[in-house]
Amino acid sequence: MPEIRKNLVTGEYVILAPERAKRPHDFVVKTPSIPPPAYDRRCPFCPGNEAMTPPEAYRTPSQGNWVVRSVPNRYSVLSSTGVLWKKIEGLQESAAGVGLHEVILETPRHDASLAVLSEAEVQAVVATYLNRFTAFCSDPRVEHVSLFKNHGVSAGTSLEHPHAQIVGLPMTPVQFRRRAEDALRYYTKHGACLVCRVLEDEARSAERVVYESPGFLAFIPYAALSPFHLWIFPKRHESTFGGATAEELMDLAHVLRVVLRKVYFGLNNPDYNFVLLSGAPSDRLPHLHWYWAIIPQVTKRAGFELETGMYVNPSLPETSAAFLRDVEIERHMLGEPQPLESAHTTAEECLSVVTEDDNVVREVVESVTMQFAC
Ligand SMILES: [Zn+2]
Ligand SMILES: [Zn+2]
Repeated sequence: MPEIRKNLVTGEYVILAPERAKRPHDFVVKTPSIPPPAYDRRCPFCPGNEAMTPPEAYRTPSQGNWVVRSVPNRYSVLSSTGVLWKKIEGLQESAAGVGLHEVILETPRHDASLAVLSEAEVQAVVATYLNRFTAFCSDPRVEHVSLFKNHGVSAGTSLEHPHAQIVGLPMTPVQFRRRAEDALRYYTKHGACLVCRVLEDEARSAERVVYESPGFLAFIPYAALSPFHLWIFPKRHESTFGGATAEELMDLAHVLRVVLRKVYFGLNNPDYNFVLLSGAPSDRLPHLHWYWAIIPQVTKRAGFELETGMYVNPSLPETSAAFLRDVEIERHMLGEPQPLESAHTTAEECLSVVTEDDNVVREVVESVTMQFAC
């Protein structure tokens, strides 16, 4: 018989249907996309093409060849200039579309992904996430910051060069607000943070845990809304990513890399979305707890989910977690991009043969929608 589980953190229901349940191997991508080249001379995010993007807002290291850089999105969903206004007239509520939108270029390598970067490279990426998150939150017009990554076409990306996006919104989106309200209700009733309680439960039972470090727990939730839906919870209660310590940041880079490598090698590099859920640094709240969600796009959402807001998950969280736990990531070296002496050197070599006709700026427009709740 199918089982309906409630996800207390998201407030959503999921139907786990054993008759439809598939084995973990059934979700392994059968026809992986053709590997991209290490360098694409027409790509606006490849080294040597920095002039194709708006002037960078941040780079690391600050001098010399960049490892990670963040640039304003040429096709920003909001205007970075202008004064914020909000008004309500009868049934019409509106606000100025001001805010911030940057693209974080996670590596100079066109063919890499977070899963195949070194731990030091992932540390630089995570440190950039924190720098931009903090900078966005300090803009007085910004009320909520959304940091996300679309990996692969079915996850909504239009450019294959590894990148994330960050958007500073002048209001708090309804999904985040409802969850914060639910978390406050739980805190008021039980005197504890719901996410802290979930952490304790999941760590104790361990059947859905994929990986654990001193500071983080990576697991598939009891009521996972989609197959291999992963959460990475910081163990220390903190309502904002902006409150992460330097030590936690290093730990996060380690856990993130391990989990993404398990997904990459275990499921054969599926498309996925990767999302930060965090309050603002100005709100240090006892009921709110920041975390990351990774949502592999291995099934599709359809009419039933759109109408009901309920999900049908054809996989069992416990079985999926055991599958990922057993993926031996260090054994898998084949299939990774071959090391280059330097992506920048390669770019410079390639640029020497670039003609003007090749110098085409591609669209940086990207879908910011998600197939599943996170
Ligand atoms: Zn590129
Ligand atoms: Zn907590």
